[in-house]
Amino acid sequence: MPSGTMHIVGAGLAGLSAAVELTRRGKRVVVHELARHAGGRCRSYFEPALGLTIDNGNHLVLSGNESALAFLDVIGGRDLLTMADHAEFTFHDVKSGERWVLRPNDGPVPWWIFFRHRRVPGTRAADYARLGNLLRANASDTVTQKIDGSSEVYRKLLYPVLLAALNCDPKEGSARLAGAVVRGTLAKGGRACRPLFAPQGLGPALVDPAVAFVRKNGGEVRFDDAVRAVEFGEDRVRSIQFAESTLNLAPDDQVILAVPGWVARTLVPELTVPTDYRAIFNLHFKIAPPSGLPKIIGVINGTTEWLFAFDDRLSVTVSAADRFNEADREPLARQIWSEVAKIAGLNAPLPPWQIVKERRATFAATPEQDALRPSTETRWRNLFLAGDWTATGLPATIEGAIRSGDKAAKLAIAKGF
Ligand SMILES: Cc1cc2nc3c(=O)[nH]c(=O)nc-3n(C[C@H](O)[C@H](O)[C@H](O)COP(=O)(O)OP(=O)(O)OC[C@H]3O[C@@H](n4cnc5c(N)ncnc54)[C@H](O)[C@@H]3O)c2cc1C
Repeated sequence: MPSGTMHIVGAGLAGLSAAVELTRRGKRVVVHELARHAGGRCRSYFEPALGLTIDNGNHLVLSGNESALAFLDVIGGRDLLTMADHAEFTFHDVKSGERWVLRPNDGPVPWWIFFRHRRVPGTRAADYARLGNLLRANASDTVTQKIDGSSEVYRKLLYPVLLAALNCDPKEGSARLAGAVVRGTLAKGGRACRPLFAPQGLGPALVDPAVAFVRKNGGEVRFDDAVRAVEFGEDRVRSIQFAESTLNLAPDDQVILAVPGWVARTLVPELTVPTDYRAIFNLHFKIAPPSGLPKIIGVINGTTEWLFAFDDRLSVTVSAADRFNEADREPLARQIWSEVAKIAGLNAPLPPWQIVKERRATFAATPEQDALRPSTETRWRNLFLAGDWTATGLPATIEGAIRSGDKAAKLAIAKGF
């Protein structure tokens, strides 16, 4: 048993992932979380306007997200997710009414691109070979410097996928981060692109079992326990301050700061962090989807970008949605419902609805913002950083957040914790 305690600040997926890895190895851990619940930007909650438990955002997790799957296996949450047997993604163009299904084959040799019924209409096999340009991108390249932004494969596949993954227009998005997404999924074959669904929400699958795991393994998770300030000595953190108390760290105590980047910046003044955050909107409509509606539909030429069908609701995701920050809610809900009803083939008036805005959902994954991401290690020997905004090599995602926490924990252990 180590003599020191690891103080983890923030119980989002990054903090929880660090806490799980450390408690699994018998280390002493206390998690300090500002809110009264864990999960941060990935949580489930009861939404009174709908009378339903929903996620704050519809999160797409794929079978190629290896850190997320390993985390689920350790905490015992895997059974609460269902994985599609094969990678199949339906797309719907609201302008033309055209609908198609992208069907990558399971294995890593992409023979699917040679079959018209498996690829995007209007594209040729050679168009997909150009995706390799993303895998070889430099840090300063944007997506459309590497891929023709007027091509059909861009318009009907890369644009919607990368807009969601990067949370910014792929024209300004980092080609290297886009390449990392492709490398972890499509480049490995359809087996790595199977979507995971959480019928009861991501909180019950990813968050609650992680908190239970940490507690069962001797760790503490304290809610309503915001860190207000951190005091630094020459080469180590000396104390952390809460609203009504100060915790002086013993020589062997360490800290993993797993708060959002904009909070970390206020606690560690010399820190460089991403500065440009973008909104993600989710619109939930309380209506059962018609039978046979695909669970996920990528939408082209609409305000709706992705449509998710849950048993009790239809739910829309709009990324980089800052243009709607000040929009009147009801007209927006009506406009989007008219689109959704068409896509779903429903002839129904506006059902009960709710708009959930996450104004600072993630940083915009541009080359400039990527360059601002700090590494796990800091110049203070007992302070490590974790979070989707640290230099994970991925855009701000669940996979990146979990990977960052795991990395911080392993680095602390490697350095003697
Ligand atoms: C609407 C939406 C949709 C998304 N869709 C997807 C998707 O489809 N796929 C995907 O992979 N990712 C998606 N993401 C991104 C994903 O949710 C995040 O990357 C991930 O949850 C970030 O985890 P984190 O632990 O780094 O940060 P957070 O979740 O922000 O965790 C930080 C924690 O620190 C706490 N905290 C803050 N200040 C303090 C303090 N002073 N003291 C103590 N605690 C503090 C916060 O309350 C929070 O719990 C989406 C995000 C949003 C918002």
